[in-house]
Amino acid sequence: MIVMKFGGTSVGSADAIKRVADIIKSRLDQKPVVVVSAVGGLTDKLVELTRAACSGNHTEIDRLKNLFLDTHQKLIQDLSLSEPVLLSAFESGANMLESAVQMLEQAGEYSDELYDSLVSIGEFLSSNILAAVLQRNGIDSQMHDSRQLMITDSEFGSARPLMQESRVRVQKNLKPAAEKHVPVLQGFVGSDTAGRTTTLGRGGSDYSATLFASMLGAHTVEIWSDVDGVLSADPSLVPSAQRIRHMTFQEAAELAYFGAKVIHPSTLLPAVEDNIRVIILNSMNPEFKGTIISNTGEDRGEEDGRVKSIAYKENLTVITVISSRMLMSHGFMASLFGVFQKYRTAVDLVATSEVSVSITIDDTRHLKDIVRELEAFAAVEIETEKAVVCCVGESLKGTPGLAAQILGHLEHTKIYAISLGGSDINLSFVIEDAELPRVINRLHEQFFSK
Ligand code: ADP
Ligand code: ASP
Ligand code: MG
Repeated sequence: MIVMKFGGTSVGSADAIKRVADIIKSRLDQKPVVVVSAVGGLTDKLVELTRAACSGNHTEIDRLKNLFLDTHQKLIQDLSLSEPVLLSAFESGANMLESAVQMLEQAGEYSDELYDSLVSIGEFLSSNILAAVLQRNGIDSQMHDSRQLMITDSEFGSARPLMQESRVRVQKNLKPAAEKHVPVLQGFVGSDTAGRTTTLGRGGSDYSATLFASMLGAHTVEIWSDVDGVLSADPSLVPSAQRIRHMTFQEAAELAYFGAKVIHPSTLLPAVEDNIRVIILNSMNPEFKGTIISNTGEDRGEEDGRVKSIAYKENLTVITVISSRMLMSHGFMASLFGVFQKYRTAVDLVATSEVSVSITIDDTRHLKDIVRELEAFAAVEIETEKAVVCCVGESLKGTPGLAAQILGHLEHTKIYAISLGGSDINLSFVIEDAELPRVINRLHEQFFSK
């Protein structure tokens, strides 16, 4: 059994969906379970729609609703689908949209719970369309409702899976079904124990795929996207970025965490635990071998001590906490990180000196409260519009001269913090957002032009 996940661009047009059907057909002997994202770009539109609905902006509400529904209707027409099951699923999707918008309008303010009811509708429609296309292609297939299978906590907007509860349902309902036909599931979507719709966070369909694989006992997850695999850098910044053949779970997790959007940061957690091989493939170039992410790190020998890929996270805030009390004192770090924990704010990079600590954060929703609490025991400085650049490779820590090679190329760049040694495979540093394109291209040229 394998799990195949198709991202938004892979289901973004009638031709793309037909290609997906061919790809699934080529894997039928491996008993595929399919996980699908919303049609490319439409989750963004649903997010905009939640804002428009909260503020009661009717022109914008109508524009976004029509755009969302018309895009699906056009896909259904272009694919010449007229099956009653699909047409009634489309009607249900339209009704779900209408009632979620009305509830937000009535509430008059943003709510994570209503956000989840609304943004999950993209996956509901794309999964129904894909199941219908598979049937049309002679593949016995059915849409399954992920809300009945992926049970999560009630942290709407970024829910965490409840593995025990979900596993029981997957084993009981999904696994036997997958023996008989090809199930098509919504990525990104689940429900809490009270049956309320939840989502796993933006880009979360990749995570759904490895979670379902773990619960099904599948040995491989194929993540089908619009790039030839994990590349040596983000191709939108570095057009000459090259495909990486193999990566270890740790390397890929590090890249995903530091912004390589091709994999959602949590995707590798279930894969590491159950040793599930993850392969990143291109649905526009299906014969290409892609990137294999596994435990074994086959074929990596000559790459040790080399940078394999460069990721970045932009628009970060650096918080520097300065306190002479920190000198030689214990418990200071615990109280400092306690503040971030209290406001559930993840910290990306940490650098310390004798009397100061610099920390980067992405989520600034609670910045004011965090600063207020930190100021109770230290002086605090804030700098915005910063970026973390993260070089990932094997044995970076122990390779002589490597840090000099990386940093030696940044002679005109102001560096705000550096982190090396936390893990063997990551060297990260903080620069100005505006410097990103130049710095990433410079480093990429240094490590990948030979
Ligand atoms: P999907 O809709 O298939 O989930 P995403 O848009 O989420 O696709 O992720 C694929 C995109 O990730 C690529 O189009 C590329 O622009 C971006 N990306 C950023 N960094 C990398 C990288 N190191 N390797 C590959 N793609 C990357
Ligand atoms: N459709 C969701 C998003 O755009 C989930 C995903 O694509 O993985 O965030
Ligand atoms: Mg994605």
